[in-house]
Amino acid sequence: MLVVTSRALDGVRHGFSTRRGGVSTGRYATLNVGGKWGDAPEAVAHNRRRLAAAGGFDLGRLYTARQVHGARVALVVDGTLAERVAESEADVVVTAVPGTAVGVFTADCVPILVADGEGRVAAAHAGWRGTVQGVAAAAVEALVSIGARRERLRAALGPSICAHCFEVGDEVAAEFDKLVPSAVVRAEGKKPHVDLWEANRRLLVAAGVQDSLVDAHPPCTMCEPERFFSFRRDGAGIGQHLSFVVSGRAGG
Ligand SMILES: [Zn+2]
Repeated sequence: MLVVTSRALDGVRHGFSTRRGGVSTGRYATLNVGGKWGDAPEAVAHNRRRLAAAGGFDLGRLYTARQVHGARVALVVDGTLAERVAESEADVVVTAVPGTAVGVFTADCVPILVADGEGRVAAAHAGWRGTVQGVAAAAVEALVSIGARRERLRAALGPSICAHCFEVGDEVAAEFDKLVPSAVVRAEGKKPHVDLWEANRRLLVAAGVQDSLVDAHPPCTMCEPERFFSFRRDGAGIGQHLSFVVSGRAGG
């Protein structure tokens, strides 16, 4: 399977790519859709076309930004140039233009897709830094600012590192203690762990998304080497996943 989806976003065209079904080899095997880590460009281009075909979106209308572990938003309106968004530093991409897809690249960080079911969609990239900076809430606020109703928003967290795998230093744990203490897992004599799923779930709910409309139980990228790339497990120079969501109803 090239993509996994979430029931939370039923009726909204979306997906989280896996590492399966592509043509890349070695550390990028096989469905690497990221361009930053040295894979053959023609293989990446081929993989992206396959993903777009499987996911039902138009590659020429896919908007992704330059992700910098922050909480800034890029809003795509009619006429926005994809190149311009690609060059702008943002970790949330939002649109309500029918047929337009927004996406984020990850390999352990948490991809968050949010939709209101009426065509307003957002894709957010939440590593620990972005999580602490409020990238989940930034996605919600951006959707509300273009007319979405908070109580109608649905959100899905995509494949990313689980709490068991995500050991952190004391200074990172301290950041989460301040913000979402329930996301910090401590055990006697061990380094702390952070639960990015719990943190982002809580932050989405705090921003007004109904708890029952958040899917915060994705697969773990690090636990499943057969299905997913993982930076923590394999280091740099690996493949990346793309998570995407398309404005407009599925099938429409
Ligand atoms: Zn794990």
